[in-house]
Amino acid sequence: MGIVTDGVDTAELVISEVFGPTFQGEGPSAGRLAMFVRLGRCNLDCSWCDTAYTWDWTRYDPDAELHRRTVDDVLAQLLAIDAPLLVITGGEPLLQQSRLVSLLEQSKARGWRIEIETNGTLMPEPALVELVDQWNVSPKLGNSGVTLARRWRPDVLRALADTGRAIAKFVVVSTSELDEAAAIAEAGHLGEVWIMPEGTDAATVARRVACLGPAVLERGWNLSTRLHVLLWGDRRGV
Ligand code: SF4
Repeated sequence: MGIVTDGVDTAELVISEVFGPTFQGEGPSAGRLAMFVRLGRCNLDCSWCDTAYTWDWTRYDPDAELHRRTVDDVLAQLLAIDAPLLVITGGEPLLQQSRLVSLLEQSKARGWRIEIETNGTLMPEPALVELVDQWNVSPKLGNSGVTLARRWRPDVLRALADTGRAIAKFVVVSTSELDEAAAIAEAGHLGEVWIMPEGTDAATVARRVACLGPAVLERGWNLSTRLHVLLWGDRRGV
């Protein structure tokens, strides 16, 4: 919760990066002009994670990667960007959810649409729920290498689904994983399903999305590419 002293919000967030304007690269809003707040740390450790610099301290230096910044400081950077869509991502943003409320309240007041990307393992607090226009919930499959006990929280998925503003976005390597995605979406009551190929280079994303397309269509689901990867590969901050 923010501590407001003399009109200054001193609540701090652990930030990896703030960037934009750019495009939302994934899911229902892909292609929309957006700005991003990437929060540090994650409670999972997916083998193919493309933002391991937010949490993997065997490979990265947390002192170099993460920065404590006040809500006011982050907001000032967002105001300078002023894109219509604010995407809160990570890492896992809900690890800092109580400190996010103030940022999102002020973002909402400026008329920005707010999306939060989450792995669906941490229960959202009511104060945050009402501020979010869309939850991009990305439950992890076995291909992540994370144990089922850590990545599977059907009660959390149902709570997110109950907001009426959640979509499921699965990172998939091959069509053989679609049954697993279907079971998770059904158990989590997540009706709107998006399938997105795993990949951090344009050739891999293009190849996999082409393989997945017909099977995704057959199930009546939605298909997402990774627009930012097609445009910029695995470059950070775009
Ligand atoms: S949940 Fe997301 S940020 Fe966390 S390790 Fe998995 S892919 Fe990376």
